[in-house]
Amino acid sequence: MAAKLDPAVVHNREADETAALAARHLVQPWPVAGSIGAESRGAIESGDGIYVTDGEGRRLIDGPAGMWCVNVGHRRAELAQVLHDQALALSYNSPWYTTSAPSVELAERLAAHAPVDLGHVFYTTGGSSAVETALRFMQFMNNVRGRPEKKLIVSRQGGYHGSTYLSASLNGRPRDHDWMDSASDQVIKLTCPNPFRRPTGQSKAQFCDFLVAEFRAVIEARGAEKIGAFIAEPVMASGGVIVPPAGYLPRMRALCAENDILFIADEVVTAFGRLGEVFASKTVFSIEPDMITFAKGVTSGYFPLGGVMISSKLLETLRQSNHSDAMFAHGLTYSSHPIGCAVALKNLDILEGGLLDHARAISGHFQAALKRLEALPLVGEVRGLGLMACVECVADRVSNNPLTLDLEVGKRIDRHCQELGLLVRPLINMCVMSPPLTITMGQIDDMADILDTSIRRTMDELVCEGLWKG
Ligand code: PLP
Repeated sequence: MAAKLDPAVVHNREADETAALAARHLVQPWPVAGSIGAESRGAIESGDGIYVTDGEGRRLIDGPAGMWCVNVGHRRAELAQVLHDQALALSYNSPWYTTSAPSVELAERLAAHAPVDLGHVFYTTGGSSAVETALRFMQFMNNVRGRPEKKLIVSRQGGYHGSTYLSASLNGRPRDHDWMDSASDQVIKLTCPNPFRRPTGQSKAQFCDFLVAEFRAVIEARGAEKIGAFIAEPVMASGGVIVPPAGYLPRMRALCAENDILFIADEVVTAFGRLGEVFASKTVFSIEPDMITFAKGVTSGYFPLGGVMISSKLLETLRQSNHSDAMFAHGLTYSSHPIGCAVALKNLDILEGGLLDHARAISGHFQAALKRLEALPLVGEVRGLGLMACVECVADRVSNNPLTLDLEVGKRIDRHCQELGLLVRPLINMCVMSPPLTITMGQIDDMADILDTSIRRTMDELVCEGLWKG
């Protein structure tokens, strides 16, 4: 029989013990079959500001802010205090038949930041459940409105929207679907709006025309009466920080409006300061979606929470329908969690209290400092917006081909970065970064210097191993 574990002892274990225990008992996210349930990933022991400390006591800049989420930085005493106070005041209430002050106060403040029609919030537990909620709402609405065939969902290659069945079915990154089932009969995927990968000889404006024409052709071919929603991350995050060509989002939005297709902006990453605004759709991209999904930065990762901002006009059409008894049979035990909402309110205080201004002010320096890495021959492009960026490596800068390059190149760079004090998120041939918004100019320069050295070391290594011509 296994020995009984004292949680206090587990917590104080040495880092290598933690890793060993993980390999015995954890199934980690996104594992591969060969090591599933037997994998140890490096332990992180603590965090402070933009830094985390790993199991070996190394202090690292948290380049991806956890998982695009620790926007206000680690070890915020005021957030810890709110967690404590709210847990003592009211640790939980059932949203099935009661409500709590933090949840409605937060809803009111979120509505004030959202485009004017998005006056309502449905809370969830994270990003996947937010996307799932938006899609199920579309299905429900079209059933109630007597058009049950209007349910197809249009997403894009390269996008990432979650890990529940329907949200995952929208994903379009390489390898996402190789071994997984999906509701592929309900989803149509358009071309990834990645200007770096546009066909040779096409200008960015022509590429944008092509993307819009492709969507128009899909609507014509499948019929607007069959398409319920279009979903897009305003900047694709996990697909490699892809900023679409100018005018793309407003034109896709207009096509949706002309064809009564709901536009869902998946702002799980781009909201709560990442682009300098609470919601980026209107202020940064000049679009007014029908729904906005959010999570991550809403609590800066201190508590799991997400949600969907929903158009008040859509809700009105339901209230006016002939089916007043039709039920939106959807809800989560932890929808409107009072602790999550209280943390989100304090998090919003911090953002509104100067951090959004700081993020806007510093993002130019962030982008410029990283852009200089394009001088290195392994780097095909450095791109980004606000405080999100991606370094993409290529085998050569004529073809920009990533495929003949060692596909673990992102991991190699990350390994060198960690030795020098920086965590980046490796994605095949890319490294993505989205540091806490509290980052200073000096710390940005540190990040860029570490990346520069790490990419140089990776280049030497690849040449030495005969994997790259240099
Ligand atoms: N949508 C986007 C744009 C995301 O980046 C993610 C996660 O990275 C999700 C949805 C899913 O969020 P979660 O992991 O909280 O379920």
